[in-house]
Amino acid sequence: MPILQEIPTAQFMSRRLVRVPPDAPVQSAVHTMRTHGVSCLLVVEAGQLKGIVTERDVVNCFDAQLAEAGAVPASALGCVADIMAAEPVTVCEDDSLVAALNTCMERSIRHLPVLSASGSLVGVITQTDLVRAYAHILERQLALETDNERLKALSLIDPLMGIGNRRAMERDLGHTQAAARRSKSAFGVALLDIDWFKRYNDHYGHPKGDKALKAVARAIEGTLRKGDRLYRFGGEELMLLLPDTDPEGALQAAERARAAVQARALPHAESPLGVLTLSGGAASGTGDGRALIEAADQALYAAKEAGRNRVTLGSV
Ligand code: GH3
Ligand code: MG
Ligand code: MG
Repeated sequence: MPILQEIPTAQFMSRRLVRVPPDAPVQSAVHTMRTHGVSCLLVVEAGQLKGIVTERDVVNCFDAQLAEAGAVPASALGCVADIMAAEPVTVCEDDSLVAALNTCMERSIRHLPVLSASGSLVGVITQTDLVRAYAHILERQLALETDNERLKALSLIDPLMGIGNRRAMERDLGHTQAAARRSKSAFGVALLDIDWFKRYNDHYGHPKGDKALKAVARAIEGTLRKGDRLYRFGGEELMLLLPDTDPEGALQAAERARAAVQARALPHAESPLGVLTLSGGAASGTGDGRALIEAADQALYAAKEAGRNRVTLGSV
């Protein structure tokens, strides 16, 4: 991300140079400014930069004439050499925008002729250009921040199931555990593992297995209460994180998930039930989240042992 110190003046300067000779009448200089739509003129003689005339110089000149004579006859305005800033302050095209900005501020000037390394006139940088550079940087920074946010969000989502991944679970588990400690309330977890899924893949093929995993995630999502979160724990195993939930509530959440997947009735020719099912283990407590997951895992194992397509409550 380029910052002002790293951007060379050349990147934002204007290369449109309007040159006038020192003896050009002020009146024609004003006309030149208007027709070229520029706010300064570079006074050049024999290829050498002699001075710069800005809108401010012209206004000052008119103002002085008005104060003196009450009117401004063209002949009284003189030539640009009379009103230009001679030997103007310049910057080098390789100088950073910060250098240009500092020079503008220190000298109270709004236009800086820009010279190449070899000393030839290559552009002008104005306060407007500096503001444009700032706006550009801010825009880039904003876009970058938005991209970062998007990447961060993506890095917490499992791309296949479209739910939180293990990393998201670890983060949220920490938050939920801390909140439960503060409020001295229990929270629950439930591990849900698809039954006979290896057989499903073997029978229907891996792509159909992937589709089934998505369908299972959608079915379980439909059972979540507000505040409950669903994650892919790994492989064909999912996890529910259940804030403010006692053991009975955790078991019920796991049971709702189990029932929803069975009701989805995805055919599974190699399962004794003929449809895709899952088993679950639930646990709840006020303490360590890891201990809850361990207890839920043991309960899941018990559910598998007891015949699958069921949920069991673990003890912490
Ligand atoms: P059990 O009822 O005991 O859980 O039996 P199972 O066959 O489900 O258990 P096992 O752990 O032996 O097999 C899990 C299978 O899940 C094997 C693996 O290929 C499959 N699996 C894991 N992740 C994915 C995935 O992303 N896509 C697909 N299609 N299959 C997956
Ligand atoms: Mg399984
Ligand atoms: Mg498994």
